[in-house]
Amino acid sequence: MKEIITVKDLVKIYGGESQVKALNGVSLTVNEGDFICIMGPSGSGKSTFLNILANIDNPTKGAVLFNGESIYKMSERKVGEFRRDNIGYIFQDFNLIDTLTIRENINVPLVLANKSKAEIKERVENIAKKLNIFEFLDKFPVECSGGQRQRAAAARALVSEPRMIVADEPTGNLDTKNSHDMLKLLKERNVNDGIAIVMVTHDSMVASYAKRLLFLRDGKIDDSIDRGELTQKEFFYKIVDVTSKESQGLFDVMED
Ligand code: ADP
Repeated sequence: MKEIITVKDLVKIYGGESQVKALNGVSLTVNEGDFICIMGPSGSGKSTFLNILANIDNPTKGAVLFNGESIYKMSERKVGEFRRDNIGYIFQDFNLIDTLTIRENINVPLVLANKSKAEIKERVENIAKKLNIFEFLDKFPVECSGGQRQRAAAARALVSEPRMIVADEPTGNLDTKNSHDMLKLLKERNVNDGIAIVMVTHDSMVASYAKRLLFLRDGKIDDSIDRGELTQKEFFYKIVDVTSKESQGLFDVMED
């Protein structure tokens, strides 16, 4: 499988007087076809890790390699192009532009990639139909529900057919049916087109769509499980088992 991005020994320290070590030596290679889910307690570094993987933030120490080349040796323009052509991000808080309609928001990556008006229209309408937001295309984000905005954010990430989708709690605002629709669409892109997915969730059902699970704790990868030959249901039960032991572990540090 072709490598998309490798991060090595990432350390992230947030400044200020009380320094916080959000990541403390995390390494990972994401290849085409990967579907990786990251779980871990609040504050364990999940969002920080995703932001570095998507090149939205820089680590304090460590290496970030795109196609085997260090981003620190690339020009800013080349890094920007790599990000535009390879990475789609579904943010926890959507990050839609309020002054643009849903259609205009989803258009953005294609406009940046200089696609023709006809191609933009076709691709945006196709993805909107798949995510059940076709009727909302000409509304503004403020006129849409949380779930509709979240699906619009997913459409914007998927429309340019990036090689990797990075998603922070992508189903956090969706009801069960819409969650499954979104995850099925991600899985379809993963299986059919080899798009790599790296997703953070706290929900074992959502995580059961992945092929591999990583647990972050205190800024480190503490455990990992591969789905292997397990069915999604069997994998789900395994995740529930591991996460309940993980939460049990949180009590070990308490006194009684
Ligand atoms: P998670 O996504 O697992 O909840 P985060 O990556 O958001 O974890 O945060 C990891 C740690 O870094 C937490 O202790 C958090 O308070 C701290 N942190 C995150 N972002 C910032 C920031 N911009 N400035 C200072 N500290 C931060």
